[in-house]
Amino acid sequence: MGNLYGLIGSPVEQSMSPDIHNDAFRALQLEHYYQAFHVLPTNLEEAVRALKLLNIKGFNVTIPHKLSIIPLLDELDESAQIAGAVNTVVHLNGRLIGYNTDGNGYVSSLKSIINKPLKDQKILIIGAGGAARGIYFTLTNQGSMHIDFCNRTVSKAEELIKECPFPNKSHAFGISQAEQQLADYDIIIQTTAVGMYPNRNEKPMSLRQAKRGAVVSDIIYNPIHTAFLEEAKELGLVVHNGVGMFVHQAALAFELWTNQVPSIERMSKIVINKLGGTTC
Ligand code: NAP
Repeated sequence: MGNLYGLIGSPVEQSMSPDIHNDAFRALQLEHYYQAFHVLPTNLEEAVRALKLLNIKGFNVTIPHKLSIIPLLDELDESAQIAGAVNTVVHLNGRLIGYNTDGNGYVSSLKSIINKPLKDQKILIIGAGGAARGIYFTLTNQGSMHIDFCNRTVSKAEELIKECPFPNKSHAFGISQAEQQLADYDIIIQTTAVGMYPNRNEKPMSLRQAKRGAVVSDIIYNPIHTAFLEEAKELGLVVHNGVGMFVHQAALAFELWTNQVPSIERMSKIVINKLGGTTC
């Protein structure tokens, strides 16, 4: 008999996680099943207790439970301790162990399109929310020192830099200042919600001042081609979309649960088909 895996969040109806995990189980001839569960914040504690009782072997955690689940777990892996948030839980020997695969998923995806060591690149992160935090701490943990931030609320970026447990030479700027000095950066990582469906015409800034050959990465995956990436493409810059982060974080969770490596290509195809697009 197969095992049960799942996702808890609110909302979850639009999630593509069941599609990619169930396909990966089938492709690897595993009899497991992945189910999305809509869990309201007021029901989180009961839901986690119920999943444990029903012997779910692992689950993903999405908005709004990534922080509030922490006190309900038995143990936190280093990845979750660093990120300060949990997106994956492993149920092992009666214990719920929290992990975070978002930061490592993003960095693996970025590395798959860049053939130079990331630690030598000068990076600008736009945004200072939960996703930016996971990406920043993962990059600095892997030795990237030259990472700057810009954010609508500059103080949030300054706080993130202060909280970073790894060596860094980071500075925080406002959006318009960063826009003027874009030529300094080899990689620009867009982590705000600006440009996300349905506001697909919005951009966090203009890329006109970007360096020739710079990589522009947007972690939004709906739409796949954000207005920001469209501008990058028009300017001849290297484009990296958010599907990569989504499927790499999922693949890392899948590996934690099954000790098997799913096909990133299959996962990407499913997501891209569902979003009705092709990649830039
Ligand atoms: P979050 O913690 O709420 O942070 C949101 C960030 O966006 C903050 O920096 C915020 O700036 C900025 N922002 C929001 N609205 C803005 C506006 N109108 N103008 C300028 N800045 C604005 O959210 P998150 O969890 O980091 O997620 C951010 C994005 O990443 C979402 O679009 C999400 O879908 C995407 N994401 C993708 C993946 C993936 O797998 N590809 C994974 C996680 C997240 P302030 O600090 O000034 O409020």
